[in-house]
Amino acid sequence: MLMEDADVLWYHTVEKLKREGIIRSEKVRQAFLKVPRYLFVLPEHKKWAHVDEPLPIPGGQTISAPHMVAIMLELAELEEGMNVLDIGTGSGWNAALAAELVKTDVYTVERIPELVEFARKNLEKAGYADRVHVIIGDGTKGFPPKAPYDRILVAAGAPNVPEPLVEQLKPGGKLIIPVGSYHLWQELYEVIKLKDGSVKVKRHGGVAFVPLIGEHGWKE
Ligand code: SAM
Repeated sequence: MLMEDADVLWYHTVEKLKREGIIRSEKVRQAFLKVPRYLFVLPEHKKWAHVDEPLPIPGGQTISAPHMVAIMLELAELEEGMNVLDIGTGSGWNAALAAELVKTDVYTVERIPELVEFARKNLEKAGYADRVHVIIGDGTKGFPPKAPYDRILVAAGAPNVPEPLVEQLKPGGKLIIPVGSYHLWQELYEVIKLKDGSVKVKRHGGVAFVPLIGEHGWKE
């Protein structure tokens, strides 16, 4: 497939998400156009990158569907200069989009070594390797060296809200995380840390993610 074709298909996907009211802000629309999904999928799936469905990536994992990534990024309300932690790097696409929105470095944690390599290669290709730092480890423990965070985005389903992630949020910061069952049904939580350290949870409906596996998530 010619690159031009991929760009046209991707443009139509972004415009469709906008018409559907899933992409709500111009900055998320611009980030989506600047960071096309086809740079983050396996070569054999490039022709499907514009389709609004998850796609397989190495390690038995998935790159999330464009609408899901847009919903989470709109909820996150990322602003320039924010300190963001992204958990569940996968292909690296969401981390690159976040870096495009905050215009600064983003830290992202992945537990599967094969995906760390996959994401780093994709980020290099897309021009984000210098700003998106892929860390191998258990993201349920957060990433203390760069805490506290304005935003923490989790792209895997947890049994409950991991305590270390709340601890690593700034007061006024928020965590976007799917919480629910192991087998692909969760509710999307927006966890806001209040000034006194307590949290307020807003629920944003049913979603389907792969499990968040780790010390403060599901056991392997
Ligand atoms: N955001 C990704 C993207 O843009 O391609 C898609 C993420 S995929 C749906 C979920 C990822 O979470 C998988 O790559 C999985 O290996 C990872 N994961 C699961 N548990 C994890 C943990 N405790 N720490 C870090 N990554 C984890």
